[in-house]
Amino acid sequence: MTSKGRGNFLKVKCLDCDNEQVIFDRAASDVKCIICGKTIMKSKGAKGKIMAHIDKVLN
Ligand SMILES: [Zn+2]
Repeated sequence: MTSKGRGNFLKVKCLDCDNEQVIFDRAASDVKCIICGKTIMKSKGAKGKIMAHIDKVLN
């Protein structure tokens, strides 16, 4: 399921507004909910910290 060094696309659900969107877990900058603007993932240079409900890992 996880692949070292490549990162994964995750389907996540925003905790605030239930919007679902697909994010990349190694994005270079913070990812925000497109609906309410809540930070969904904090970028840490490598794998980011996910701050939303993870629905599914897409590969
Ligand atoms: Zn939201």
